[in-house]
Amino acid sequence: MRPRRERRVAETDPGAMRMMDEFRTAGAVEALRAAIAAAVPRPVKLMEVCGTHTMAIARAGVRQLLPPTVSLISGPGCPVCVTAQGEIDAFLALGECPGVVLASFGDMLRVPGSTGSLETLKARGTETRVVYSPMDAVRLAAASPEKEVVFFGIGFETTVPTVAAALLEACRLGLRNFSVLSAHKRVPPALAALATDPELAVDGFLLPGHVSVILGLEPYRFLAEQHQIPCAIAGFEVTDILEGILHLVTQIADGRAALANQYPRVVRPEGNPTARALMERVFTPTDAVWRGIGPIAASGLALRPEFAPWDARQKFALDWDRFANVPEPPACRCGDILKGIASPHDCPLFGRGCTPARPIGPCMVSSEGTCAAYYRYQIG
Ligand code: SF4
Repeated sequence: MRPRRERRVAETDPGAMRMMDEFRTAGAVEALRAAIAAAVPRPVKLMEVCGTHTMAIARAGVRQLLPPTVSLISGPGCPVCVTAQGEIDAFLALGECPGVVLASFGDMLRVPGSTGSLETLKARGTETRVVYSPMDAVRLAAASPEKEVVFFGIGFETTVPTVAAALLEACRLGLRNFSVLSAHKRVPPALAALATDPELAVDGFLLPGHVSVILGLEPYRFLAEQHQIPCAIAGFEVTDILEGILHLVTQIADGRAALANQYPRVVRPEGNPTARALMERVFTPTDAVWRGIGPIAASGLALRPEFAPWDARQKFALDWDRFANVPEPPACRCGDILKGIASPHDCPLFGRGCTPARPIGPCMVSSEGTCAAYYRYQIG
């Protein structure tokens, strides 16, 4: 049986671009489903780290395709969801400074802070702008020299290079009325924290395709080599995800741990060195607080000292310390869900007090949030 399973992975993994329909044919899906069912040796708990995977898995009904011995749990890969309550509060507090325009991706608009959201601030008269890229915020600053445009930098290594590029453009243009509040997060330190968490004890990680486009393979190797946890980088089509799961259950069946790259048509082993250089030119690792997980050493990114004029933390005289340990909304279990130790159904507010129309926690607001995925696709 073993050669059959390996052939299936090889056949569906040529490392070349293919037409979208090829990822969705019933035959390919059924073959992968059967291969996973044949390979899985015992009940296993696999974590999909990435919020885009969480949504793709829910949308495609991947859980229904898997044998009951394979359970998928969602991890801390939704950038909006892991943004700490204190970071959200700090950004909202900047809106009270004279002349400030708060610029953010649309996902943040309805995420509740302790006393409101960007949306409620806007209703009260604070100037807010939804932007589609950090460069839009730079353009806004260039067009409004009398304003102070503050961009909320959230997200992982996928997004950070674009923020770095925007900031360098603001420098080049001499725009002193543009700044960034960095709440960026780095994925590998969070994975290290999860790998050593005895409460979690996952059997394998399905790793994020788009973060890996930037990072490449090296930053994940410690998971297999030091922690003996099987890993597979996967794309976002249904067959990509099933192939990633097949890689994981095959490793578990063989009693080995390795790092598989299911997504070689997009993820190169070396990643994108140009994007990483851009990121490293502007940002430096710093300790950061993740919602649910708590503080993790070197898991955030701060602007380098030479960019202080564009760093909102340096530019605005807020009492920054008061945002260090802000509690999450009472009764909201986003933290436990992000840590993989609770499901949305464990939250008494799910679908009752908390819905996408009236969200209480970020996991219900974000387009990549686990609660939003469970609610939208009625996952039981
Ligand atoms: Fe938080 Fe709402 Fe999810 Fe409950 S259902 S964990 S309140 S986001």
